[in-house]
Amino acid sequence: MSSSLILKINEGFYSLPIFETMGIRAIFTTRFLDMALLVKKDKKAEVLRNQAFKKMGVPLKTLVCPLQVHEAGIAVVREKDKGRGMYYRGDAMDATDALVTDIKKLKIGVRTADCLPVFIGDPYQRSIAIVHAGWRGINQKIIVRTIERMVKEFLVDPKDLYFAFGPALRSCCYEVGKEFLEIFPESIDEKSGKYYFDLILEARRQITGAGVPSTHILDSRICTSCANHEFFSYRREGLAAGRMLSFIEIM
Ligand SMILES: [Zn+2]
Repeated sequence: MSSSLILKINEGFYSLPIFETMGIRAIFTTRFLDMALLVKKDKKAEVLRNQAFKKMGVPLKTLVCPLQVHEAGIAVVREKDKGRGMYYRGDAMDATDALVTDIKKLKIGVRTADCLPVFIGDPYQRSIAIVHAGWRGINQKIIVRTIERMVKEFLVDPKDLYFAFGPALRSCCYEVGKEFLEIFPESIDEKSGKYYFDLILEARRQITGAGVPSTHILDSRICTSCANHEFFSYRREGLAAGRMLSFIEIM
């Protein structure tokens, strides 16, 4: 299997066919619709989102999202959590940046604009995870911790897990201060006296270090800043940036 990822492009979202063959649906949206968690009740926004997803052919039902805090907390999503964080901050899963579940037809999602959404699927034990990974989360080994949680909860073997990286700020555009050399010495590019962080390389290294074959890691290769016409980028747009939704679901 190639490490590049063949994406299926649709109106308003991309799907990841590699997971389809495992009976798992994995999708990330584009900037056609801001999917940020809403601060207060907004019936109009709910209706708009529902209509857009219905048109996409993936009804926005039983989505569960966390309040993301750039740390390394992981929550196991149960039946009773259905709908939490579907629209609002107020009922979102507690401060966590990764969700895992083995419940069918339940979408678990994260919202991003530059941070890396990581899709994880196990075709054998039929369990899934979604991770919101920025540099802080990566520094706290959030993806590795998510793998460990899947091992504990669902008895998965890391060798059986498949990964996909959604759109994120890539090393072409991720300029950082020199202090990053100390945090991620092996994942910094130096170009004309400037430093660029390769979040994807660091994520990849941590995942393979946890026992996942490198051929099981697929990458959309989309840079949110280079492809800002299609994706939100916090780096490019600042506070005005909306959020893409990435979710995964066992069919
Ligand atoms: Zn770029």
